[in-house]
Amino acid sequence: MSKQWKYLFGPVASRRLGRSLGVDIVPLKTCTQNCVYCQLGINGEQVVERGEYVPINEVLKELQEWLKEGLDADHITLSGSGEPTLNSGTGTLIEGIKSITDIPVAVITNGTLFSNEQVRKDCAMADVVLPSLDAGDEETFSRINWPHGDISFSSFVDGLCKFSNEYSGQIWLEVFFVEGVNTSDDSIMKIKKIIEKIQPDKVQLNTSVRPVADNLAVMVKAEQLDLIAGQLGCGAEIIADFSKLAVNTKISSIKENILAVLERRPCDLNGICQGLGLDMAQAQKVLTKAKQDGLIETITKDGIDFFKKI
Ligand code: SF4
Repeated sequence: MSKQWKYLFGPVASRRLGRSLGVDIVPLKTCTQNCVYCQLGINGEQVVERGEYVPINEVLKELQEWLKEGLDADHITLSGSGEPTLNSGTGTLIEGIKSITDIPVAVITNGTLFSNEQVRKDCAMADVVLPSLDAGDEETFSRINWPHGDISFSSFVDGLCKFSNEYSGQIWLEVFFVEGVNTSDDSIMKIKKIIEKIQPDKVQLNTSVRPVADNLAVMVKAEQLDLIAGQLGCGAEIIADFSKLAVNTKISSIKENILAVLERRPCDLNGICQGLGLDMAQAQKVLTKAKQDGLIETITKDGIDFFKKI
């Protein structure tokens, strides 16, 4: 049975990154934004101050242990509970990872801190950087991403362009579409113009096929996303996993389904996520609430937490 890690999760099967070992370097949810489609929920204050939110030497020690166990992944990915570049040790971490393994390093970021030169330098050490761009103007940026008050749309776009100019690795830009918010022809054309400035290696289109904490993130249908890809040009590919839709439509409530699984047998977080096609943060949130409500309890066996219906 594999060990329970504090900062590492997975490897999870990622459509973009293959078997991706997640490295979580900020506490849940520490982010510069509060996107309407956030799987971690629309909660907490946005933050812009960088800090050592989790100790990087501890993360590296854990990764070293993980590698000693002979485990493998296609990418080691900084992502998880919020915006990873908020951790001021991001550069030290990437440098440290590169000194102990050849597994490529990826950073999933909302890109809002690229106006900071040090953040650009830190991320430039990664092999692939996956920033987001969901809006073509300030108003849409506010509506979809709810950024911290100190982040303006122009400084965000400027930062992305600077990073693109300075960086020699791969940039895979994600554009997340929300029906009625950034799907008008005007919005799409504005996004297209910015993409032309950034010149990413890939443009990847996404939408909300999984239930999110708020119903503000209305899914864009597959056919419409196809049309948008055509409008954007630049070889935009669709990464939204519409196959999950059938599962999730059937799942009237994530909580009820998790409880139904736990009623049959105790299960750990990995088992719940694999069984129900949920991501870890999403399942963890529901489990924490269910525990607070006295619906489930935790039993620890061989260092692994199993959840059990009471
Ligand atoms: S940037 Fe990511 S973590 Fe932050 S609010 Fe948006 S979706 Fe959530």
